[in-house]
Amino acid sequence: GQRRAARRTIQEVESVRYELARRLGELFSLQELAYLLSESLQLDRIVTQVARYVIRFLDVKGSVVALTGDAGAPIRVAAADGSFATLAGRTLQPDEAGIIAKAIAEERLQVIEPNPREALPRVAGFEVQSAAAAPLRAHGTTVGALVVADHTGGPFRDEDLRLLSTVATHAAIVLANARFFDLIRAGKEQWETTFDALTEGIAVADENGRVRRANRALADLLQRPLPSVIGLDLSAEVVGDSPDVSTLFAAARAGAQRAGITIQSDRLGRLLRITAAPLRGAESDGWVVALVEDVTEQKALETQLIQNEKMVAVGQLVSGVAHELNNPLTSIAGLSEFLLEQGAPNEREREHLRVIQEQAERAGRIVRNLLTFARKGPADYGDVDFNDIVQRTIMLIGYELKLRDVQLEIRLSPNLPAVRGDRYELQQVVLNLVTNAVHAVADNPGEKPRRIVLSTGVSQGNQVFVRVEDNGPGIAPEHLSHIFSPFFTTKDEGQGTGLGLSISFGIVERHGGRLSVERSAGGAVFLMALPAATRDGGAAQGARASWPGTPQSEAGAEPPSPKDILLVDEDPAVQRMIRALFSRNGQRVEAPPDAEEAVRRLESRSFDLIIADPRAAVSAGESFATVLLKRWPELRSKTVLVTGDVRPEINEWLMGLGCSYLQKPFRIAELKAIASKIAGSQSS
Ligand code: ADP
Repeated sequence: GQRRAARRTIQEVESVRYELARRLGELFSLQELAYLLSESLQLDRIVTQVARYVIRFLDVKGSVVALTGDAGAPIRVAAADGSFATLAGRTLQPDEAGIIAKAIAEERLQVIEPNPREALPRVAGFEVQSAAAAPLRAHGTTVGALVVADHTGGPFRDEDLRLLSTVATHAAIVLANARFFDLIRAGKEQWETTFDALTEGIAVADENGRVRRANRALADLLQRPLPSVIGLDLSAEVVGDSPDVSTLFAAARAGAQRAGITIQSDRLGRLLRITAAPLRGAESDGWVVALVEDVTEQKALETQLIQNEKMVAVGQLVSGVAHELNNPLTSIAGLSEFLLEQGAPNEREREHLRVIQEQAERAGRIVRNLLTFARKGPADYGDVDFNDIVQRTIMLIGYELKLRDVQLEIRLSPNLPAVRGDRYELQQVVLNLVTNAVHAVADNPGEKPRRIVLSTGVSQGNQVFVRVEDNGPGIAPEHLSHIFSPFFTTKDEGQGTGLGLSISFGIVERHGGRLSVERSAGGAVFLMALPAATRDGGAAQGARASWPGTPQSEAGAEPPSPKDILLVDEDPAVQRMIRALFSRNGQRVEAPPDAEEAVRRLESRSFDLIIADPRAAVSAGESFATVLLKRWPELRSKTVLVTGDVRPEINEWLMGLGCSYLQKPFRIAELKAIASKIAGSQSS
């Protein structure tokens, strides 16, 4: 009896020992699995590991890790091994899912015991002896099932099933983590794509102002590859260090609400708007996220708009003044020319008269040029002569050149082809270049004479150019890449706007040409080049000559002259001049006091020539020219319209009337030529 009891005790000890060893083995295996799984956050890898592992661990022939998709989606075999290996990657049809679907739906372990009396059961279409499916459940949701089949040692024992459940629980937790990780990674990728797609530069700077993160736009702005931006001192790199930026960042760190700042970066040659906000988080204490916008173009546009508005206002003012000045100038120039023609008593007086006449004409040209520059309407394309532009520019700036003791040399190429463009805009470019050159040479305190050379010509490729050369200090190499940027200026505050060259560049570019620096050392040379206009590209160049009645030549022996002249101009000085001009050899000039009276005279008799200010008012709202042409259309060929109003819309109206047309102040010769042409056509 005692021996039996002892043997039983030994047997029990043996079995406990065996059980202990087995449990230890399980524990180690589970540890091994945990270790394997903890290595990876990649979903694919995890499921493959689990499928492979359970075959060895549970002594089965086949395994499947099945995952559910979104609600309603079919069950997918994420990994399969052993006898099920071919299932990997497939989705299961409802009739194949069997115990897998049941384990998932009921969230409980499902077991199929071998039953020799029935046909072999199927799992996912495969015949099996036995099978078990444990739900993969973590954080309260079931994401799939872990399935094993055909235990090699016969039916599944309780320990086997318990182990299967334990492995499934482990695997589920790791799978859930991997899914979270995937979500976060996808979110992060989305964010980074967005971050890089933004056109504003964004940087995250740490407590020392070093860049920790940056987007592509910021790298582009800094003209550096993205990786090399990390670690840079943000403020120094963007604006070359500025107390304003430091203050902005400090305010952001302190959490103070502050609007952004707009700051000129000499380093980048751009105008930037910088906004900063604090970045919260344990690791990022004292960090800021900064938004850097390039507002250069926007600002330039605004300034140009304001500038345009100003120009329009100035233009209106100047048009008015010009109109007022043109009448007196007409009579000064005309009367002095008349006196000259009459033959003044002595040479000295003749000389005085010549000076008066010349100066009046010059004043007239200045007035007209002022208008050219004040006018700033929509682009008005036509054929443009660069020689003409150069001459007009000199006329405007000539006085300043003299004042600053600058020698000007002009080399105009004869027979220069026209270019197609807006005369006023192109003139502005030349004026800007010459103004810059004047400033540059005036800057030069040396004894050498200040010199500017202005030339025109045609380069290879049929490019027509204006070249502006100066002997100033030239352009420093480090400035060369910035000079065409808006707001870049080396001049003192209040002196330069930094807009001249950038606006000029824009104008020339719009015209399909090129504005470039030809030489930057030992004085600067700027070149504006535009393609020559093709022959069929409009013929505005000849426009003036083709205006009705404009004299083609002033030659001729004794030109015919009109006898009976009606003058409609309310300015007494102009009346006096025209009277003087035409009151010879029996010519008669009638100058009624107003346009209404002029109409009455026309009703009563006929005239050979009508000289009229077209805008003289007959009655409210009706101009003399309108009334004249409506009532006596046949007088169109006998009429010369003379006006000092040079606004483009007036010009257009006049040209539409089809009469001869002269702009005040005009040359006497011009008026005479038209008069004799009209007289000639009547006598013949
Ligand atoms: P601003 O004249 O108002 O400064 P610009 O855009 O016309 O603006 O010119 C920008 C800068 O280019 C000038 O400040 C000057 O440094 C440089 N620059 C332009 N023209 C010349 C020149 N002829 N010689 C030397 N430097 C020049």
